[in-house]
Order: sequence, then C-alpha cells, then structure tokens
Amino acid sequence: MSITTNSVVSIHYTLRDDEGTTLDSSEGQDVFTFIQGTHQIVPGLEMQMEGRKTGDKFTAVVPPEMGYGAFDKNLLRRVPLDRFGDNKVEAGMQFQAGGQGIYTVREVADGHALIDGNHPLAGVTLNFDVEVTHVREATPDEIAHGHVHGPGGHHH
Ligand code: ZN
Repeated sequence: MSITTNSVVSIHYTLRDDEGTTLDSSEGQDVFTFIQGTHQIVPGLEMQMEGRKTGDKFTAVVPPEMGYGAFDKNLLRRVPLDRFGDNKVEAGMQFQAGGQGIYTVREVADGHALIDGNHPLAGVTLNFDVEVTHVREATPDEIAHGHVHGPGGHHH
C-alpha cells in the first residue's frame, strides 16, 4: 500500500547537513516507526513520504522552514556567568532552562556566556536518505492514541 494519512510507516534513514556530515541515522539500530499525518516527523519529510511504498529508497531535501525552522538571532542572549552558580560553563554545552527548551552555549568570554535558544538544527537544510521498510494501516486504537503500538512503538 502507498503511504497516506494514518499509515504506520517504518523507515531506515540517514540525515546529513549540506556539508555531508551525518547528524542522525537509524543505521545499526531498529527501524524508525511513525504514523503519517500526525507530525511525528518534520513537515518537509512527512510531505515527501506521501505516496511512497515498501522498498522505496529516496533522498528528501528539506529546507529549514520545513524542518526545524530558520535561525532566529533574537534567541541569542548574553548571560553573566554568575547566573550559572557553581556549574562549569563551556562552549558546546547544552542545558534546559525554565521549561523553554534546550539552550546551547555558543561561547564564553568576558564573564558572560552567549547562549542560543534555537533548535540545534535550526537554519540547517536536512538531507534525508530514506528506505521504506514497511507500510500498514494504523489500527483504530493507534489513531485514537496518536502513536504506534507493537514493534517500534508503545507496548501497553
Ligand atoms: Zn497507545
């Protein structure tokens, strides 16, 4: 069957940026399983899954606007280091703050940390190599729960 809304889809995928650096991959792991049309994957990839079948292999290029969003300069902030208390702060470190998602420390200088509230993949063009390994219809329970049951999903 072809992938459409409420298909349960299993894929193997490798995600690269425009420099060819691998950002994420299911290689050597279980397939990734999701319900099409429920926004469990980025919009640009979900759109390009539509109509694919088991065994299909394709590359999906997803611009930032259809992925994790454009990079927003307003989410960069300089914070005095004493606000971190006794915690060691260094570039590349990530932390969660005030229930507002993940921040990344971009640099530490002059007693301040430059922190970035953008998603780590904001502004990045996503290049997915996808192999569709399985497609089936979601059960009424899965549609009601909004997640996959069984292999690759919830067991309850
Ligand atoms: Zn469930």
